[in-house]
Amino acid sequence: MDAPSDNKPTSNHMSPKLTVRLSSDKSGQGVFAVEPIDPGEVVAVWGGRIVPEDIAAALPPQTRRYVVQVESDQYLAPLERIDPAELVNHCCQPNCGLSGQITLVALRHIEPGEEITFDYATTDSSPFLEFECACVKKPCRNKVRADDWQRSDVQAANRGHFSPYLQRRIDSQAHDSQVQEENSSKDVSPARRG
Ligand SMILES: [Zn+2]
Repeated sequence: MDAPSDNKPTSNHMSPKLTVRLSSDKSGQGVFAVEPIDPGEVVAVWGGRIVPEDIAAALPPQTRRYVVQVESDQYLAPLERIDPAELVNHCCQPNCGLSGQITLVALRHIEPGEEITFDYATTDSSPFLEFECACVKKPCRNKVRADDWQRSDVQAANRGHFSPYLQRRIDSQAHDSQVQEENSSKDVSPARRG
């Protein structure tokens, strides 16, 4: 897509280094780089309306597929129209990741022609947002599930790029397991002394 020709406010931002076209391998559109993109560069900022789970889950499938979960029970939904920045597809081996709840940044250098992708497990943790996946880049998880954010491979690949509400869960689980480890080591110490 060319740079905007006027200064009308939009509900989304997409880098002028990107364009929307049909994906060669998937049914539907995707976002592609037309210029080189540096690591950390902002590629998109999403907008929309914040809706609770019952409204998000009841949206028609063609709208629901563009919903981004931003809190445990809050969802960003493009209710008025689908903007180009919504069309970024999932990949299990992504080249972009979140910075905050609604900003997408490059995880590495991206060449012109590459499709812009991120791992939907870094935003979504609701069963109604699960979907079958067929990534071109392997390995693919085959299905993107609500609890994928708990997988060690997903956490390692997207470290520092989870939606804040999921990062809080990850931090809380890490803290709980550390406390458990400390407690279990306390349990065995009297036996050692005995
Ligand atoms: Zn996949």
